[in-house]
Order: sequence, then C-alpha cells, then structure tokens
Amino acid sequence: QAKQQGRGLLRFFSPEMTQRAKERLRMEGDLRRAIERDELLLHYQPQVDLRSGELVGLEALVRWHHPQRGLVPPGDFIPLAEESGLVVGLGEWVLCTACRQMALWLEAGVAPRQTAVNVSAVQLSQGRLVERVSEILRETGIPPERLELEITESFIMADREQSFASLTELRALGVRLSIDDFGTGYASFGYLQRIAAQKLKIDLSFVRDVTTNSGNASIVRAIIALGRSLGLAVIAEGVESTEQAEYLRALGCDAIQGYLISRPLPVAEITAFLEQARSASPE
Ligand code: C2E
Ligand code: MG
Ligand code: MG
Ligand code: MG
Repeated sequence: QAKQQGRGLLRFFSPEMTQRAKERLRMEGDLRRAIERDELLLHYQPQVDLRSGELVGLEALVRWHHPQRGLVPPGDFIPLAEESGLVVGLGEWVLCTACRQMALWLEAGVAPRQTAVNVSAVQLSQGRLVERVSEILRETGIPPERLELEITESFIMADREQSFASLTELRALGVRLSIDDFGTGYASFGYLQRIAAQKLKIDLSFVRDVTTNSGNASIVRAIIALGRSLGLAVIAEGVESTEQAEYLRALGCDAIQGYLISRPLPVAEITAFLEQARSASPE
C-alpha cells in the first residue's frame, strides 16, 4: 500500500525536480558548514556624501568562498539561508565580523564613521537579535552609533509585532537603522513612522535609469521629499555614472553608493581606501 502510494507520489517529481531538490539539500549542508570552515567573508562598499564628497560609511556585504563553486554572491545563498533558518547564525557571524573589523579600524585610526550590516527579516523576528547585538557591541567595545542595521520592508510581512519590538530595543541600544531597498516593499507611512529609522536607501532599480525614465525620476524625487519631511537621510544605491550622481544631487539626495565610487572590496583593499580617504581629508 505504502509502496503504491510512494510510486504515485514519485510521478509528480520529474527527474529534473529531484535533481534540483538534491542540489538544494547539498547547498544547505555546505552552507551549514561554511561558517565553521571559515568560508564566509565580507566585502565592503563605500558610501559617499554627495555635497562634500566625504566618505560617510561602508556597507558590509557577505560572500561565500565555496571550495568548488568559487566566490558565491549573496543572491545565490541568502534566500536559502533564510528558508532554512541558517541566516540567524550567518547573520550573527556577519555582525560579529563587521564589528571586530570596526574595532581594528578604530585602533588603526582609519575607521569609517559607520558600517552598515544587512539584517534579514528572519533575524528581526527573533528576540535573540537584540541580545546578540548588545553582546557583540560589548565584546568589541565599539560605540553603538558606529553600527548601522539595514532592514528591508519585508519584515512587515513576517512577525510584525516581534520585529517592531526588536527595532525599538535596537534603537535604545544606540545603533542606527536604515531602510534598505526602499520603495520596493510594503511599508505604509504609518509603519515608516513606527520603524523610526535614520535613513532611507533608494533601491537600485529606481536609480538605474533615473536620468532617462521619467517614472523612476518621479519616484526618486518623491522618496527624497519624503525623507526630507521625516528628517531622514536619503542615500541612493547602485549609482554607476556621474550623470546619475549629478541628477541625484540636483534632486537633493544626501549620499550615494555604487560602482561609480567603488565596487564592494575585500578588507585589505577597503583598508587602503580608508587610509587614502583619511590622508585626503585629515580630521
Ligand atoms: P543590498 O543590501 O541592497 O546591497 C546592494 C547590492 O547592490 C550589493 O549586491 C552590491 O554589490 C550591489 N551594487 C552596489 N553598487 C552597485 C552598482 O553600482 N551597480 C550594480 N548593478 N550593483 C551594485 P550583493 O553584494 O550581491 O548583495 C545582494 C543582496 O544580498 C544585498 O542587497 C542584500 O539584500 C543581500 N545581502 C548581502 N550581504 C548580506 C548579509 O550579510 N546579510 C543578509 N541578510 N543579506 C545580505
Ligand atoms: Mg543593503
Ligand atoms: Mg539595498
Ligand atoms: Mg537592493
């Protein structure tokens, strides 16, 4: 009977699907071991003030150095990490690594004003995040305002009340909050006020053709106006050309991040960048 049932079920799985399921399981196992095997690393991308040209911060972006696949971009494993819950441990590793690096930069006198770390909605919906952030700040001794957490509007779809509670506690710790990929999610004006972030990041999908697509230009203008009236800083991500930068500056955008300034760089290269930025404008 069971055998028959099994055979019946099997018919729904094409060989291709079983292949994909196996592949997924393998990836999940690999990812589970990635942290202990020291295969994760962070790249850092500069964020620059549009008026002064000064470096205002960095964004930490995780990469996975897979023994067979090479350097895997986060788009290829963060979704899997979120579905499997592995993103909680992975996210703690990212927070810890970024804060330790900040401590080293502070010691060396080349620290950026802040490092932004991406936080998944899955992490936010678990109370443990606040505790871990507070422990990591204590362990590394960095001032809380040196850490910025980038959250996406998607948490509103998850465990909303737990997430709002976490955000309130994180703010109380003194860390900064930024809303990532703004304009692509579900935040209502009411939620926006409840999040009480300090910064909006305009999603790169709006920035890409801001100079040629009047619809996107209108959206960008509206986001900047919204940021202004709520007293939030506005940064545009994915800026690749001087035309885009000029356009964004004219619209009143505060800062930019993108290939125009630099790609995300490994620690050694970003440290050289920080040293250069420092000697260009000593405090
Ligand atoms: P995001 O947080 O919106 O990060 C911006 C993405 O845009 C990065 O992709 C960055 O490399 C890319 N980018 C920056 N400037 C440009 C540009 O001028 N042109 C173009 N075409 N792209 C640009 P990346 O590093 O592949 O990360 C993709 C996404 O993966 C991130 O989007 C973020 O949602 C997620 N992610 C990255 N690191 C972490 C992490 O540590 N934790 C979590 N939960 N998610 C992460
Ligand atoms: Mg981000
Ligand atoms: Mg983003
Ligand atoms: Mg994005």
